[in-house]
Amino acid sequence: MLNQYFNQLNATAKTVVVSSLLCFTVNAADGPTNYQKAQVTEVWQPEPAIVDTHSSAIPSDAEVLFTGDDLAQWQSVKGGPANWTVDNGTVTVKPGSGDIKTKNKYCDVQLHLEWKTPTPDLKKKGQGRNNSGVFFQQRYEIQILDSYQNRTYSNGQAGSVYKQHIPLVNATRPPETWQTYDIIFNAPRFDGDKLIKPAYVTVLHNGVLVQNHVQLQGPTSYIGLPQYKAHGCDSIKLQDHGNFVSYRNIWVRPL
Ligand code: MG
Repeated sequence: MLNQYFNQLNATAKTVVVSSLLCFTVNAADGPTNYQKAQVTEVWQPEPAIVDTHSSAIPSDAEVLFTGDDLAQWQSVKGGPANWTVDNGTVTVKPGSGDIKTKNKYCDVQLHLEWKTPTPDLKKKGQGRNNSGVFFQQRYEIQILDSYQNRTYSNGQAGSVYKQHIPLVNATRPPETWQTYDIIFNAPRFDGDKLIKPAYVTVLHNGVLVQNHVQLQGPTSYIGLPQYKAHGCDSIKLQDHGNFVSYRNIWVRPL
């Protein structure tokens, strides 16, 4: 039967079949080919989900927290709706109104947000110059501050894990300029009251790595040393520190 098929092939096809057979015979004698050996370490499952990153600046699997229209995804930490000022695609802290937090709660996340500090009152220095912050799980703060030509303690400047980790560099842009934070936060894990894995965070400030998978010692503490206390997933919080810091384009991808 095979003979019959073989005889029907033209000369070129016959050559291909014969050389393939020869190759197989030689390789079978020599053991698996490099291609076959390479296949052993190929992993095909699971296949990564497709995320559209070209139709929009926001990845298709992200949860949009603020695009410029309203604060529907946010509430006041004091209770009730978030009432910071939404105007012209941005949201600005309303000093004295209190922090705002997401309605949804998160554990491990990738967060993107953009922030801008206003023209500063140069009499205000250090921590007093346009301070805000983004808190993961309402507890762990990445500092937001006008750190452009404004010295303060290094573990309290923009890009710091407040009072825990100094940023690798100061990537702060001048006031009135939009800046980006891209943050990967790995939440701590607890077994009952016991900490079994601390939190870790990686921060890119304006595309520059400023925190490289640093370990958090506990929740942000203004006075004294941080200490973990067991908790579950929780909201992302933005800080009202009494200054007109603005935000836009906030999205999160739960990991
Ligand atoms: Mg702050």
